[in-house]
Amino acid sequence: MKTVYMPYMCDHVYAIEAAFKALGQNAQVLTPSDDESLEIGMDFTIGKECSPCFMTTGDIVRLTQQPSFDPAQSVILMPTTAGPCRFGQYASLQRDILDQAGLEQVEIISPSAANAYQGLGKNSMKLRQLIWQGTVATDLLQKLLYEYRPYETNKGQTDELYQQGLAHIKEGVQAGGGKPLIKAMQWIAKQFEQLPVDRSEPRPIIGIVGEIYIRLNSYGNQDIIRKVETMGGEVRIASMMEWLYYTNWTVKNNAQHSHLFLSFISISIVDFYQQHQEHKLLKTVEHLLRHPHETPVAKLMDNIRPFYEPALDTEAVLSMGKAVDFAHLGLNGILNLMPFSCMPGIITAGMAPRIRADLGNIPWLDVIFDAQGGTHFNTRLEAFMYQATQYQRSTEKRSGVENRKSVIPEPVALTT
Ligand code: SF4
Repeated sequence: MKTVYMPYMCDHVYAIEAAFKALGQNAQVLTPSDDESLEIGMDFTIGKECSPCFMTTGDIVRLTQQPSFDPAQSVILMPTTAGPCRFGQYASLQRDILDQAGLEQVEIISPSAANAYQGLGKNSMKLRQLIWQGTVATDLLQKLLYEYRPYETNKGQTDELYQQGLAHIKEGVQAGGGKPLIKAMQWIAKQFEQLPVDRSEPRPIIGIVGEIYIRLNSYGNQDIIRKVETMGGEVRIASMMEWLYYTNWTVKNNAQHSHLFLSFISISIVDFYQQHQEHKLLKTVEHLLRHPHETPVAKLMDNIRPFYEPALDTEAVLSMGKAVDFAHLGLNGILNLMPFSCMPGIITAGMAPRIRADLGNIPWLDVIFDAQGGTHFNTRLEAFMYQATQYQRSTEKRSGVENRKSVIPEPVALTT
């Protein structure tokens, strides 16, 4: 049987691997990108592509260089999009690279964001259901990680719990999702209820938006989340499920404008199913989170209408809508992450001054990752964190509140 290989973008990819396995298909997540695979990727590209392209290309080529690699038994999963940005070209470029290396036998499968990833073979519906459930579960586990780790009293305990939770999620998805996955989430909830934390020192909360690959890939973003935490902050990050809801919204919107009634009904049913599954999984951990709920994409789009037309598409609209959402939730700073020369990232950065002005000049930093290690990255981040802390204090002062504990409720009475 062939094996489906998938580049490691983030931990959600393990849920995709588990979903394939649940349906009896061999699947394997590639070794996460590192300096070695980045160098390989840059050798096979011309340097004008975006950094996720270097990274995924390097990961794939490194796989093909393994002595045990069998081209005839290998399939690469590389999603695509019909949008105007370069992501739609990754799979074509990688096809050319494999062909030139004499690896024509290696298949590339490319489900597209343009139809909300419906092109996933014979068992497409069940596979997508499992991927969705695994994605939501991983998002929820990450929300717990980011809300708890900065306050843990035993260093390293939250990370350990996160890894155990991830393993439970994989098992739950591989067992067919549904009840086994709910059980996995209940186990996770129980562990987090018992995790010792100290929330007496309020931290500024930073919202992370921007290009999805760089935002979620810690190698690509130079571990920015840990850096923010080390510098005294706490993060909220635009989730993976938000992107999938956004693809639904786009398909629905296009169908509506083109009077494609059946397409509209079909994507509405998918969207309804996904929300239903999300709520079922969320119920298990909702009591542990300060910000458990996903803001509906339609609301995010309404957020940016005063500044930009959502129908113009690309991740820029999501990033801007989410930044406004984070500010409305009372967060203290926005980090907009993007690969070097990322088109949606540049649009978002260009619109940032207008959006910020409308949001009380919330601290905002555009961070560009150029796969070169990032000049002055730490210094800029430190200055931003200082601004976010000052902004947090000044907003609390303006609202006549002595400390943040009385503004943001404690998440839950922890059992010991
Ligand atoms: S979103 Fe940006 S980084 Fe990602 S493929 Fe498009 S242009 Fe490249």
